[in-house]
Amino acid sequence: MTKVDDPAIRALLAGYRSYKALFYDKRGDLTRRLASEGQQPNVLVIACSDSRADPAMLFNADPGEIFVVRNVAALVPPYEPDDGFHGVSAAIEFAVRDLMVSHIIVLGHSRCGGIAALNEMVHGEPQEREFIGPWVNVAREACALHGADLNEDTTSIELASIKNSIKNLKGFPWLMDRMNAGDLSLHGWWFDLDEGALHAHDAKTGQFSPI
Ligand SMILES: [Zn+2]
Repeated sequence: MTKVDDPAIRALLAGYRSYKALFYDKRGDLTRRLASEGQQPNVLVIACSDSRADPAMLFNADPGEIFVVRNVAALVPPYEPDDGFHGVSAAIEFAVRDLMVSHIIVLGHSRCGGIAALNEMVHGEPQEREFIGPWVNVAREACALHGADLNEDTTSIELASIKNSIKNLKGFPWLMDRMNAGDLSLHGWWFDLDEGALHAHDAKTGQFSPI
């Protein structure tokens, strides 16, 4: 049973009332249209679960504007069409093959706990969690891009992991079909929590720079 006098729950409900007043009272035309006609977002965002890097807040998105899948460290797993529980791949498939999005943004961020866990694993520190280690191991290949000499700063791994996720996206054959047809673009972005700055990956130079 939800205790509505709990401060955390009370804050959520206050936020919900503001949302409802804005999108169901003032902008009811938008939400009614979305409800009756369905969603047609142009963009898939693959983001981290981190509470400080919420894509809908970051991009000031309206309902229906972005299709989002979030997971620990904003990772894209490799294309593995077997009977495993591929939640992220299912979201990618729906966005690419059914919603027909035009853009996919892999959104990493600074001070990422998931990437820090990967960094610890690479350095041989034992993992005391059941699921985090095997999941962030998806990005281990990204660490190889930096050789064995990883320092305490996880930024380089965060950026490498974004590139690795883009590489994994390109392993999905129907996604590549749409890219080759020229109607789907991939973007690697990294959000700096300290500065509030958004950096984009340049596929030509391999570097990230503010946008
Ligand atoms: Zn994170």
